[in-house]
Amino acid sequence: MKAITLEPQEPGTTRLEDIAEPDASSGSVLVESIAVGVCGTDVEIVEGKYGWAPPGKTRLVLGHESLGRVVDPGPNSSLKEGDLVAGIVRRPDPVPCPNCAVGEWDMCRNGQYTERGIKEIDGFMSERWRVEPEYVVKVDQSLGLLGVLLEPTTVVAKAWEQIAAIGRRTFWDPQTVLVIGAGPIGLLGALGGVQAGAEVHVLDRAETGPGQAARRDLSHRRDRRPRVPAGHRA
Ligand SMILES: [Zn+2]
Repeated sequence: MKAITLEPQEPGTTRLEDIAEPDASSGSVLVESIAVGVCGTDVEIVEGKYGWAPPGKTRLVLGHESLGRVVDPGPNSSLKEGDLVAGIVRRPDPVPCPNCAVGEWDMCRNGQYTERGIKEIDGFMSERWRVEPEYVVKVDQSLGLLGVLLEPTTVVAKAWEQIAAIGRRTFWDPQTVLVIGAGPIGLLGALGGVQAGAEVHVLDRAETGPGQAARRDLSHRRDRRPRVPAGHRA
């Protein structure tokens, strides 16, 4: 099957090449790739500034923002053939540190975590990939191709969760959101703010470009749906 691979930390080594089908040891769920997002991290990896190959290998399959269709759900998942899915990027460190031990591997304390397409595990830029049932998320079919934005949206959802956790230490009824930077993450954050019923402002130094129309559309917008009770809004 075809895959986009590179030699991490070596610029100019990225290529589309034939590699072996995914090994059963990489997970019991078999997925065919529909789309893979490209973000700044991918650009850095391609430029040789970041990234690590799996142990014992020199090349890494790139790609961590995935969208695929289940070909074989395997024996241990609730998925069905044809389901849309996205793969979880990070895996807990093997020690594990106190945070990884309780499933909070985003907050890994010892840096020994691994990440698909970034750090020591092959990514999703291959025609087919396998994944463990506990590290794959079912995507609503109605999202279609937009499901490829699920992974970057989880980054923003995590930020909202942490903001809310800090704010709720005392009475808190925020009305206004300021997002600095109208890149993909900033705009996804602004969408979350509108969805939460806040008055959203998006600030960016650029005046032109693809993000700016979306920035103007999102700024000052309030969702007209009923507000979540004060103190419980993300
Ligand atoms: Zn850890």
